[in-house]
Amino acid sequence: MSDNFDVIVIGGGPAGYPAAIRAGQNKLSVACIDEWKNRDGSPAFGGTCLNAGCIPSKALLESSELLHRAQHEFASHGLKLAGLSLDLATMQKRKATIVRQSTLGILTLFKGAGVVPLQGHGRLLAGRKVEFTSHDGTKRSLQAKHVVLASGSEPMPLRGVAFDGERVVDSWGALEFSEVPKRLCVIGAGVIGLELGSVWRRLGAETVVLEALEQLLPMADGQVAKEAARHFRKLGLDIRLGAKVGGAEVRPDGVHVSYTDAKGVQSLVVDRLVVAIGRRPFTAGLLGEGTGVALDERGFIQVDEHCRTGAADVWAVGDCVRGPMLAHKGKEEGVAVADRIAGLYGEVNYRTIPSVIYTAPEIAWVGQTEEQVKASGRPYKTGSFPFAASARARAMEATAGFCKIVADAASDEILGIHVIGPMAGELIAEAVLAMEYSASSEDLQRTMHAHPTLSEAVHEAALAADKRAIDIPNR
Ligand SMILES: Cc1cc2nc3c(=O)[nH]c(=O)nc-3n(C[C@H](O)[C@H](O)[C@H](O)COP(=O)(O)OP(=O)(O)OC[C@H]3O[C@@H](n4cnc5c(N)ncnc54)[C@H](O)[C@@H]3O)c2cc1C
Repeated sequence: MSDNFDVIVIGGGPAGYPAAIRAGQNKLSVACIDEWKNRDGSPAFGGTCLNAGCIPSKALLESSELLHRAQHEFASHGLKLAGLSLDLATMQKRKATIVRQSTLGILTLFKGAGVVPLQGHGRLLAGRKVEFTSHDGTKRSLQAKHVVLASGSEPMPLRGVAFDGERVVDSWGALEFSEVPKRLCVIGAGVIGLELGSVWRRLGAETVVLEALEQLLPMADGQVAKEAARHFRKLGLDIRLGAKVGGAEVRPDGVHVSYTDAKGVQSLVVDRLVVAIGRRPFTAGLLGEGTGVALDERGFIQVDEHCRTGAADVWAVGDCVRGPMLAHKGKEEGVAVADRIAGLYGEVNYRTIPSVIYTAPEIAWVGQTEEQVKASGRPYKTGSFPFAASARARAMEATAGFCKIVADAASDEILGIHVIGPMAGELIAEAVLAMEYSASSEDLQRTMHAHPTLSEAVHEAALAADKRAIDIPNR
């Protein structure tokens, strides 16, 4: 096998593997190096997302939501269920199968695109040389015309709280519990903390979520955050805001967590503690001497708007560079870079990155919140449509939440769309497409939506922005 490649991608997560596939599609010779090893020591492509993030969390969210619906909603459908019980081992096995299918799928995709998979550690050296150390310790010196760094991120630790891999764990550990903890504490009410908290709460854990900020979901539209807080409380998530954790200690009777809030020093004892306070870029062992690649003060690889690092023909994409730490953002960057390397046009629209929180109800948005538009001083209008007025949502017994559109008062350009409700993560795709094409709310108003569908809520919210909604009174 040649040691010379047009492109070497270091990192095979959702930013790196699409970059490698697109480079292969562009008829470039390409290798993708990835060092991920699962708990059992088996190597796997797919990075955090497929092995320890998006995919396993969504598998457990789905299973736990089904249990919750069976317990709380089936009766209203006239479905009587006797003897419903939880078999967590089977639930975890299903999750592991989905993860394995997904990660093995990458090898098939690599084969189809002519990507050489290399499992082990990659280190960039000066002059776009790459030192590859396979998992068995064998070293190879590779040379590339272009290198794409996609080394991802890792969980942020919390001072005073040491992971022990069993009772005090990170988000990966929280996806692996073999029994439902009676008492659980999650530190961090961000996307990951809320999703994991929801899983274990639905499966029966008494769940406390400690959040240092005074506000829940500050990045979301204010109305959406308020509605979400109501539903999280209804689920039984005990979210304590303004709670700054000072430390945690594992003792025989449980994990003792101490925190400070407006009332002073507080403490609680739980069976399991999950630290989900955010993630930081991971670049350990990635860069040799004299590569010309620089890190910023927070440890992110410095790149320009086209993902070029300071070193010629060395690029960086995904969680290891600025911007939201999201799989789809990394994927688009990876694909765009692989196109740019091939001399084609590559584009990432950072203004239309959708955010999704896979709780129940689901939360999704794209563009600016009403608060952001207000602060900008731009005159705006809003339109909202509650799912309670959607025939499809009623048929689904999923009437919580609403869709809200924020548009420029003069030009009618859509500035943001916010959904909390059933399938919000799917509904937001229409909003992203609309904003990608700089659509006005009138464009959405004049677009036919099938009936009865949840997407009619997006249509009606757009109509409501001009007080022309049909299925709700206009105020
Ligand atoms: C619990 C959880 C749930 C999440 N849910 C979602 C979600 O629903 N939607 C979403 O968009 N995002 C979600 N995320 C975030 C998402 O997982 C990340 O944004 C995404 O994985 C980033 O992709 P990446 O390719 O940049 O990095 P990673 O996925 O971290 O992949 C980087 C890869 O590079 C490898 N690597 C690093 N350095 C080297 C080296 N020197 N040599 C060889 N290999 C190396 C790593 O081992 C890893 O395999 C979630 C994250 C977590 C933790």
